[in-house]
Amino acid sequence: MTAPGDLLHRFLFERLPVRGHLVRLDASWRAAIEHHSYPEPVAAALGEAMAASALMAGALKFEGRLSLPVQGPGPVRLMLAQCTHRHAIRGVARHDALPPGAPAADGLFGDGQLAVTIEQDEGGERYQGVVPLVTARLADCLEQYFERSEQLPSRLVLAAGPDRAAGLLLQRVALGEAGSESERAEADDAWRRLGLLAATLAPKELADLPCHELLRRLFPEDDIRLFEGMPVFFQCTCSRERVAGILQALGGPEVYSLLEERGDVEVRCEFCNRAWRFDAVDVAGLFSPGSTQPAPPGLH
Ligand SMILES: [Zn+2]
Repeated sequence: MTAPGDLLHRFLFERLPVRGHLVRLDASWRAAIEHHSYPEPVAAALGEAMAASALMAGALKFEGRLSLPVQGPGPVRLMLAQCTHRHAIRGVARHDALPPGAPAADGLFGDGQLAVTIEQDEGGERYQGVVPLVTARLADCLEQYFERSEQLPSRLVLAAGPDRAAGLLLQRVALGEAGSESERAEADDAWRRLGLLAATLAPKELADLPCHELLRRLFPEDDIRLFEGMPVFFQCTCSRERVAGILQALGGPEVYSLLEERGDVEVRCEFCNRAWRFDAVDVAGLFSPGSTQPAPPGLH
């Protein structure tokens, strides 16, 4: 039996200063890839990034949107996974043709880098931490991010196939000043033990086992409290206003020449494939003296 998907679960170890999150993306993941024909390694990397973005949205406190952009000189020039604090996710990858044969995962991005950005609602801080892609595994890079930027030792396991993307995140909680030396040594040992066990999790188990069973099999010696799953769903934030801003940033001459060529201007959202159409009257409105200032170009 396959565990239900599109849920993010929180759990904690009753007797250890360790907590975690477990996520499975089904419909939300398929919605992100259905209009793209990503090569298998690209889809796998994007699925892992989307599962990771949901885990991080569960683990970090913010109100707004968390983004995981990966950029590099490899065949995948840009990959972006996003998740809001309400667990609305989306993701996209821009890639060139992959080299012939099955390219190794570490060939996808080259010497790239992964960033973690959090845009708070209500104009709050935009936070960015950057980690180099030192290994092919996105999970390793994110573990480094947590260690360096959040001072939160973490273990991350990610897996993605055509129908499901899944992830497990373990985090060590600080003992605080009150912890004695022996308590710290015990917590260190336990953390090492849990890390070794987490590393044995097979992708199929991570994707398919019901949450209770997965945690029980992986950590048979530990009491774990598993909380009810929170829904995760695909939702795009594209809008007519945002597309209008992109066209304004492109400039009048460029947009009018597109209009002349095709009769109207259509912009298709890379995330959700929705087509935004602007006819001659709309375009004239975009470049009339009273129109609003262009938004910065890029992925919105
Ligand atoms: Zn969209």
